[in-house]
Amino acid sequence: MQLIWLRSDLRVSDNTALSAAAAAGPSVALYLLSPDQWQQHDDAPCKVDFWLRNLHALKQALGELNIPLLIRQAPRWEDVPGTLSDLCRQLNIDAVHLNEEYGIHESRRDAAVIQALGAQGIDVHCYLDQLLFKPGSVLTRTGTYFQVFSQFRKVCHERLYHALPHLVGTPAAQAPLNIASDAIPACIQGFATPTQSLRALWPAGEGEARRRLDTFTDAQIDDYQSERDFPAKPGTSQLSPYLAAGVISPRQCLHAALQSNQGEFASGKAGSMTWINELLWREFYKHILVGYPRVSRHRAFRPETEALAWRHAPQDLAAWQEARTGFPIIDAAMRQLLETGWMHNRLRMIVAMFLTKNLLIDWREGERFFMRHLIDGDLAANNGGWQWSSSTGTDSAPYFRIFNPLSQSEKFDAEGRFIKHWLPALAELSRKDVHNPANLGGLFGVADYPLPIVDLSASRERALAAFKDLPSRQHAGGYSE
Ligand code: FAD
Repeated sequence: MQLIWLRSDLRVSDNTALSAAAAAGPSVALYLLSPDQWQQHDDAPCKVDFWLRNLHALKQALGELNIPLLIRQAPRWEDVPGTLSDLCRQLNIDAVHLNEEYGIHESRRDAAVIQALGAQGIDVHCYLDQLLFKPGSVLTRTGTYFQVFSQFRKVCHERLYHALPHLVGTPAAQAPLNIASDAIPACIQGFATPTQSLRALWPAGEGEARRRLDTFTDAQIDDYQSERDFPAKPGTSQLSPYLAAGVISPRQCLHAALQSNQGEFASGKAGSMTWINELLWREFYKHILVGYPRVSRHRAFRPETEALAWRHAPQDLAAWQEARTGFPIIDAAMRQLLETGWMHNRLRMIVAMFLTKNLLIDWREGERFFMRHLIDGDLAANNGGWQWSSSTGTDSAPYFRIFNPLSQSEKFDAEGRFIKHWLPALAELSRKDVHNPANLGGLFGVADYPLPIVDLSASRERALAAFKDLPSRQHAGGYSE
């Protein structure tokens, strides 16, 4: 009997471990509930709820293949080897199949499992599935991990041009086993159930992920390059929660993007190529996590920035977290996060830069808060995004290029449509005033809207001075402003 241990790969189509297990013989699937570990990792309640809802859908899809889905408790990952050993003994398992995960804790957990099961004579087969390229397989000429995205991307492009990673077929139904699937819990203690309106934004299941991918690649991808920076427009795929939970694979995304481009890689249209590059950013940050494990421990990629004199400013932090900074674009973005579990990429950069530069608050505070609220929360991408914005990371924004939230607002939400959607108190303001109601000098009574908590130019100077004080600095280019 084969065991498929599912983790962040909650799908039956294009699932390497699932297909390999099914090819090897009769199979059962397992998912472990690890609430203490999830708490320790700051996994958001809406993300845990999304996992449970996807497990429901997956149980049904696996049922059609006659593969039972078992649910077991392993509150912390150190409990996992024991739980798996017991289950393998009970079911007389010959081999375990799993798709690799890449954080330090994940790797440590899997090494302990391989050792424990090995002692029982059970093989553990690990597969590359979450990424297009195995970490460690895309290296510089001197054999180190890339630190600059454009160089990493160039090598990825060359590889993809010569050989695309293949999709894996969904296994055929096996003969029914005499093992029943377990019930999927409706909720997990310690993780509040999200609102129905949040849930409705992110329906579960591979069908929904596929629908989003198809709609995006059919109707949107050609305009991706020009539309993706405007939060009031549906310019991006909104696939990140599905990619993070593995409800869809990066290979499926890549193939769909290329199909919309007549299958061409080299002479691709700008929209598809830009989108594929975003998939490669996802790839890049996961490689960084493996190559530079300090970032997995919430340490700065650039060690010299550990000496930065971050402000201890709990009131400012609370104002940022609670969407009452007095800067509409920041507050609207934070409202979007709190109410939907997701935030537009442009806004993630703006609010992160504001917290770490204008408020000079440690990026780790923002990283943790995002993780506790994001339905797509992913250690590598979140850490990468925060360290990019705070200029502590690899290939990050140079410390002196600080976004001005007002000009970002005027540029990317010119009509104030996004702001007015999330901050209805500002609905009557003109397209000029909506970005900065403080300009009205109290003439306009936006009673519910706070005054700015910080002076932009003075706080900018304060950030520049703090970074200049660091012992040594390196500058590198990154995203464009
Ligand atoms: P699309 O624009 O359609 O992109 C397609 C996919 O590419 C995304 O679903 C995502 O998987 C990947 N992707 C896109 N941009 C990036 C990027 N810059 N880095 C890594 N992967 C990317 N993304 C997460 O998935 N989880 C996070 O926890 C996360 N935290 C972030 C924190 C900060 C401070 C910043 C600046 C960015 C963060 N991102 C994170 C990256 C990015 O904002 C989201 O992936 C994107 O907004 C998701 O929306 P989408 O699916 O519509 O993206």
